[in-house]
Order: sequence, then structure tokens, then C-alpha cells
Amino acid sequence: MKQIVLSLLLLLGTLSSQADQLKLKEIPIEYNTLTPDEEYVILRKGTERPFGANYEEFQAQGAGTYVCRQCNNPLYTTDSKFDSHCGWPSFDDEIDGAVKRIPDADGRRIEIVCNNCGGHLGHVFLGERMTAKNTRHCVNYTSIKFVPKD
Ligand SMILES: [Zn+2]
Repeated sequence: MKQIVLSLLLLLGTLSSQADQLKLKEIPIEYNTLTPDEEYVILRKGTERPFGANYEEFQAQGAGTYVCRQCNNPLYTTDSKFDSHCGWPSFDDEIDGAVKRIPDADGRRIEIVCNNCGGHLGHVFLGERMTAKNTRHCVNYTSIKFVPKD
């Protein structure tokens, strides 16, 4: 009987510490409010159409930084921006530690997400020899926001 009580107490202890951990995870983090189109790309890993409405705007932007649309984490600078003619924003490098690479659900490509909030950015392609860095981050414009250098 003593043993049963003891194991019950241990079990309850484990359960309550799990509940504490869950509570910690549920603390809401303040992110930017997303439009339905942004939610589709950033949260549900959708892809915007190439050469979309904002593509020319992207092409024309001067020096600055691209931050995550959802959490404002700085992801890319215009130094790594290049024109790949693919219709999506392209960068050949990320700001150190800002972007996380994970195997895509399709089993072939490498998905890239914001290392801070996990928001979907696009895919990274290696070995295409488009730039000296031999890397192309193919990013949805929907997932990023331009902050001009002042
Ligand atoms: Zn983010």
C-alpha cells in the first residue's frame, strides 16, 4: 500500500511538472498580425505566385534589411540580394543564425524558416552557380518586410 501511495505521489509530481511546462509554452508571444494571404504562406507553408504584385517593388528597393513579416527578426541584407530571374526574391546568404534549414515535406528540397518564430520563408537551392556563394534562398516576398537603411 505504501508503495502504491508513493508511486501515485511520484506520478502526480510528474504530471504537475508537465503541466508547468505546458503553461510555459502557452505564454503568448507578441507577433505581428497577419493577413489571410500572409497566414497562407507563413503559417501553412504556401507559395505566392512568381512575379507577384510586389516583385517590382522588391527589385527597386535600395540598401536595407529584410526582416521576418511575422516577428521582425532580421533575415537578409540587400548585400546578399541578387536577380535570379525566377520571380521570387533571391539572396545568396542570410544574416548569421537568422534562418533555419529543414528537410521539406516533399523529401527533395530544403525548406527555410525564420529561426526565431519558425515562419515559412521559402526554399534554399545549392550548386546552381548563380553567384560566387553558389546558394539561392528563394523567398516569398509575403514572408519578409523591407526596412530601408537610414
Ligand atoms: Zn520570424
